[in-house]
Amino acid sequence: MTSLHFIFGDQLSFNLPNFANFSPKKDIILMCEVMEEASYAWHHPKKIAFIFSAMRHFAKDLQNRGFIVDYIKLDDPKNLGSFDEELKRAIKIHNPQKICLTEPSEYRVWQKIITWQKNFGIPFEIFTDTRFLCSQNEFRKWAKNKKELRLEFFYREMRKKYKILLDATNKPIGGKWNYDNENRKSPKLGMKSPKRISHQKDEITREVLNLVAQKFPENFGDLLPFHFAVNRSQALIEAHHFIVELLPKFGDYQDAMVLNEPYLYHSLLSSYLNIGLIEPLEICEMAQMAYLEGRAPLNAVEGFIRQILGWREYVRGIYWLFMPQYVEYNFFAAKRNLPDFFWGKKTTMICLNEAIKQTKEHAYSHHIQRLMITGNFALITGIDPKQVHHWYLSVYADAFEWVEVPNTIGMALHADGGIMASKPYAASGKYISRMSNFCKSCKFDPEITVGEKSCPFNSLYWNFMQSHEDKLKGNQRLKFVYPTWHKMSEKKRQEIIEQAEIYLEKIDRNAEL
Ligand SMILES: Cc1cc2nc3c(=O)[nH]c(=O)nc-3n(C[C@H](O)[C@H](O)[C@H](O)COP(=O)(O)OP(=O)(O)OC[C@H]3O[C@@H](n4cnc5c(N)ncnc54)[C@H](O)[C@@H]3O)c2cc1C
Ligand code: SF4
Repeated sequence: MTSLHFIFGDQLSFNLPNFANFSPKKDIILMCEVMEEASYAWHHPKKIAFIFSAMRHFAKDLQNRGFIVDYIKLDDPKNLGSFDEELKRAIKIHNPQKICLTEPSEYRVWQKIITWQKNFGIPFEIFTDTRFLCSQNEFRKWAKNKKELRLEFFYREMRKKYKILLDATNKPIGGKWNYDNENRKSPKLGMKSPKRISHQKDEITREVLNLVAQKFPENFGDLLPFHFAVNRSQALIEAHHFIVELLPKFGDYQDAMVLNEPYLYHSLLSSYLNIGLIEPLEICEMAQMAYLEGRAPLNAVEGFIRQILGWREYVRGIYWLFMPQYVEYNFFAAKRNLPDFFWGKKTTMICLNEAIKQTKEHAYSHHIQRLMITGNFALITGIDPKQVHHWYLSVYADAFEWVEVPNTIGMALHADGGIMASKPYAASGKYISRMSNFCKSCKFDPEITVGEKSCPFNSLYWNFMQSHEDKLKGNQRLKFVYPTWHKMSEKKRQEIIEQAEIYLEKIDRNAEL
C-alpha cells in the first residue's frame, strides 16, 4: 500500500511523526511551494526566501537519504498554485491508498484538510505534532474549568513534566520558578550586540533569492543581505553560538532596546524553531546544561527556557483553544487604520522608526520592540486589531498565525479582554526612555506630556486609559493608574486629552509625526 505524505513548509524535521510511519520503498513525500501560501499575507521577502530555501534543502536531504520526493517549485511551469490543486494532482499521479499528514500549525490549513477529507474519497491519517511539548488536548485539559489561564501556572506544569531546572525533590532550582524581576536592566551606555553569524549562500539559496526578487518585488522589506540558516546543521551552529556567546547576558538585557542594535543578546532562533530546523526541547536542554556547567547564570537560563517551554507552548494552546473566534476579538472596539509609517514611511518618533526600520531590513525585531513599541503604539492609538494582526503576520520571518495571533490580539492589543494578559501592556514614553537610548536622539521629550515637544506616547497613554476607564478601572494591576489620573487637575487632564487628539488627528491624516 502506497501512502502519500504531505509535508508543509513549517514541518522540516526528521522528527516529524510521518517518518515513524513511513514505508521507504513505497511511500512518497509531497512538498510544494504554492503562490496561495506565499501571498495570503504580504510576506516579507526574506521570510519567503528563508522558507523556500529551507524547504528545498530539506527535500534534497530527504532525497539523499533515499526518500522519494515529489517537490513542486514555485516557478515550475506545471505549478497549479494551491495546496488543493497540487494534492489532487499528486493523488492522480501516484494513486496512493492513504494520505498521511502531521497536524498543521495553523487553523487556516486545518480547514483545508477537513475539506480534503470530505472531497477526495481517500483515507487520511493525521498525526499529532509531537514537536510541540504540550499537545492541543493536554492544553485543553489544563485549561478546563480554570477561571484564568495564566502563563505562570502552565509554565510550572511544563517544567515539572520535562524535569527542567528542578532539584532532586522536584522543586525549582534556586528556590524560585521565575527570575523575571532580575531581567529588566536598562541598556548600558554604548552597548553593542556581539557579532552574529552570517551563513554562506549556496546554489539553492541563490536560486531562491532570484526567484523571490522576481516574483515579489513589491513586498515590504529588504531581501538582501540574506544571512539566515537554511538547514538543520546551520541552525544548530546558531543555537550553539547563542548558548556559548549570548545566553549569559540574555536575561540581564532581555528588555533593553538600543539604536542600530537589533539583536542584542536575543537568540534569533524563533524562525528555526517555527519551521522545524531545531526542536524546542533540545534548545531548552542545551540552556539547562549551560547553567549546570556554570556557563550561564540562572536568571538568564530560566528566562530563556520560560520563553520556549512556557510562552511558546502556551500561546499555541491559547490559539487552538480559541480559534476561530480569537482572531475576531476586539475588546476595546478599536477601529483606527494602521498608519502608513508601519509600511516604511518615515516617522520622527525615533522608537517607532527604529523598530520598523529593523523590521524592514531584517524581518526581525526583538520581543520588547514588538510589544512595547509597535504593539503599545497600536494599542494606545486604538488601531483595528485585524490590521495590526495582518502587519505582524507579514513582516517577521518567524510569523506563523498560531504564534503571531495570540501575541498580537492577546498580548500586545489586549483585544481578547484579558484571556492572555492580566492587564494591557500600555506604557508611556517614560518606560521607553528607561529601557532604551532612543529618546536621546528624538525630537520629542519623554518627560513632557503636553505641547509641541511632548512625547506622543505620554498623552496617548493617558487618553487610552481614560477612554477605557469603564473596562479597566476594576483591574487590580491598574489600581495606581486611575487614582493618579484623577489626582491631576481638571485643566491638566483636559490639556492631555487635547494633546492626544492632536496626535490622533495627525495619525488619521497620515501626517508626519
Ligand atoms: C505583537 C507580537 C507578535 C509576535 N509575533 C511572533 C511570531 O509571529 N512568531 C514568533 O515566533 N514569535 C512572535 N512573537 C514573540 C517574540 O517576540 C518572538 O518569538 C521573538 O522576538 C523571536 O526572537 P528571538 O528568537 O530572538 O527570541 P528570544 O528573545 O531569544 O526568545 C527565545 C525564544 O522564545 C520563544 N518566545 C519568546 N517569546 C515568545 C512569545 N511571546 N510567544 C511565543 N514564543 C516566544 C521564541 O521561540 C524565541 O525564539 C511576537 C510577539 C509580539 C509581542
Ligand atoms: S521621546 Fe517618545 S517618541 Fe521619541 S523615542 Fe522616546 S518614546 Fe519614542
